[in-house]
Amino acid sequence: FGKLVNYTINKSLEGLSWAGGLPGTFGGAIRGNAGAFGGEIKDSVLKVRALDNKLNLKELTNKQCKFSYRSSIFKQKNWVVLSALVKLKKGDKKKIQEISDSHINYRKERHPLEYPNAGSIFKNVDFKKVPIKFKKLFSDKVKKDPFEIVPTAWFIIGAGLVGKKIGGAQVSKKHSNYIVNLGGASARDVVKLINLIKQKVKKKYNINLETEIQFIGF
Ligand SMILES: Cc1cc2nc3c(=O)[nH]c(=O)nc-3n(C[C@H](O)[C@H](O)[C@H](O)COP(=O)(O)OP(=O)(O)OC[C@H]3O[C@@H](n4cnc5c(N)ncnc54)[C@H](O)[C@@H]3O)c2cc1C
Repeated sequence: FGKLVNYTINKSLEGLSWAGGLPGTFGGAIRGNAGAFGGEIKDSVLKVRALDNKLNLKELTNKQCKFSYRSSIFKQKNWVVLSALVKLKKGDKKKIQEISDSHINYRKERHPLEYPNAGSIFKNVDFKKVPIKFKKLFSDKVKKDPFEIVPTAWFIIGAGLVGKKIGGAQVSKKHSNYIVNLGGASARDVVKLINLIKQKVKKKYNINLETEIQFIGF
């Protein structure tokens, strides 16, 4: 995806600069309706070609892709994304480059990229789902990304879990919605830490955190 983002910048095309620094492939981004800094892949996709489970070739319009927060029909049905047509706008190359670079720098500064990690562990919390008695406490943390959310990191901080370790896995001190591998962490350590976070946040805020990552083999 990074290569595609750079290609569009070189052609002075606007629409994917939100994805500066986002790791992964274009197909993976479509499957998970990847998004950051207020942008989402669904905002640019016109059509997607995919293979269904019987290996039939499908061509889907944006609407048929059933994009939602970090999901799509491809994720729900396990279809394979082959290619996609995106709609972009002509823009100012320098400005687009600056936006993309600012996102890359933000990630370098704020995300614990110095350790192995799987990105954000939990989806952000829909502000509507924050219990009334806690709404005021988190009202200054609300961001529109892509709808009104509270970054999950705030609930993990509030639950006192920053830096919490299980085996080699640790709730990052730099960004608490990340779990980092300090060395020798097993998948089981990470899963235990995820379950602990879910329990503590549920107990303190009555919020059910949903994972953004997928589990394989558990
Ligand atoms: C440091 C870090 C930061 C991240 N930041 C963000 C962020 O800001 N926003 C965000 O949305 N995500 C973020 N992610 C998660 C992830 O990088 C993105 O969602 C990315 O788009 C996933 O693509 P991938 O190619 O890496 O998929 P993978 O992680 O390799 O795979 C994810 C799933 O997609 C499937 N898949 C891969 N390619 C295809 C295809 N062509 N067709 C169908 N299924 C496919 C895989 O089988 C797997 O089930 C971050 C991850 C990390 C590690």
